[in-house]
Amino acid sequence: MATLRFSFGTMGSGKSTVALQIHHNLSSRDLSGVLLTSLDREGAQVTSRLGVSADAVEVTPELDLYQLAVDRWPIHYLICDEAQFYSAAQVDQLACVVDQLGIDVYAFGLITDFRGLLFEGTKRLLEVADERVPMQVEARCWCGARATHNARVVNGRITYEGETVVVGDTVDVPEQPLFGDVVRYELLCRGHYRSGELGR
Ligand SMILES: [Zn+2]
Repeated sequence: MATLRFSFGTMGSGKSTVALQIHHNLSSRDLSGVLLTSLDREGAQVTSRLGVSADAVEVTPELDLYQLAVDRWPIHYLICDEAQFYSAAQVDQLACVVDQLGIDVYAFGLITDFRGLLFEGTKRLLEVADERVPMQVEARCWCGARATHNARVVNGRITYEGETVVVGDTVDVPEQPLFGDVVRYELLCRGHYRSGELGR
């Protein structure tokens, strides 16, 4: 039976690497599928920090994912990276792909944004997925504890509110100006996210 599986984790938990590995394993067994991503830092590609990449379809807000699967028929699977950025409607379209076309869907996404709130796509995937799988690679806070929060650091201080400016799933983007401020992201344990203590 076809399955909608959602694998989730923080930045640095290897989601894109696993997405590429599944794509490789299935396509090398003569199964055909489509790789999807949204706002990946390299454009319409899925890229792993380990240096592997593959071309992907960019999921724009107006793209109907069920129609895409119909148009690409016959296919055996969809692999959906950066699924936290998909809309709730697009996640429901993935559920239709599974139920009506019998295609396996492997979705990967971040859990929460810098405010500590579920992303829209993540929330809907947790609601409708057949399987919910935490990523096994754990990122670490500077203190050594498991990192569970992705903090936005503006001018050297953690901020807990603001626009959800979209960044790809990466921890190694250089500092970038945002509204005149210097913004970066840092993985922290819950305690240090709450206290605002940054390493070094
Ligand atoms: Zn910590």
